[in-house]
Amino acid sequence: MDAATISSWMNEIDGSVRAERDHLVQLDAAIGDGDHGTNMVRGFEAVVQALAADAGSPPGRLLIISGRTLVSTVGGASGPLWGSALRNAGRALGDETTFDGAQLAELLAAALAAVKDLGTASIGDKTMVDALEPAVDALRDRVAAGDSLPAALSAAAEAAEAGMRATIPLQARKGRASYLGERSVGHQDPGATSTALIIRALQKAVTTER
Ligand code: ADP
Ligand code: MG
Repeated sequence: MDAATISSWMNEIDGSVRAERDHLVQLDAAIGDGDHGTNMVRGFEAVVQALAADAGSPPGRLLIISGRTLVSTVGGASGPLWGSALRNAGRALGDETTFDGAQLAELLAAALAAVKDLGTASIGDKTMVDALEPAVDALRDRVAAGDSLPAALSAAAEAAEAGMRATIPLQARKGRASYLGERSVGHQDPGATSTALIIRALQKAVTTER
């Protein structure tokens, strides 16, 4: 994998948040302020544009540019959270021009660490962490066990989707949804939902490349 993998990941995210924009808006309207779909679409549209203007940078650099772009274009909580996540992932990769499955698992782990650092959420707080952490764990475990990368990534995407669904019965303890207290129960978290799309997009980007 190389810089093209990162570009196609960002393109896949752009396509899937666009396709799911109304769904993300509805989920956020139920327990937040209804802007999550538009936030994600605006952010990743800008990311795709920024990357198109940048030819020849190494993959870590593309992740840093993507993260910066999200921070500067998305006003909601998800902008700084995913922005720091991608920047930290890029830093973890450094100046490498190519990367393997183990490095991919480490850059995703760095993304999770940034989200947890900035947002102070843990599993069970009904946030994007509920989808991202199981995905990171699954990817790391499967890569370490010697699974093929497509198999490991599909396990990661399934783990993110299971984590996303598991947010439904939870009461939100972080972010805007936490203001609702018990009324946040019974709704799927919008940020966990877009995170599952982001991991699924990674699986598609890597798998179609091979
Ligand atoms: P805002 O809540 O500012 O309107 P968005 O609607 O774009 O921002 O994003 C909401 C999502 O952000 C939530 O569904 C949740 O998954 C995530 N989120 C909010 N606060 C946190 C936090 N402290 N840690 C992790 N994720 C968070
Ligand atoms: Mg919102």
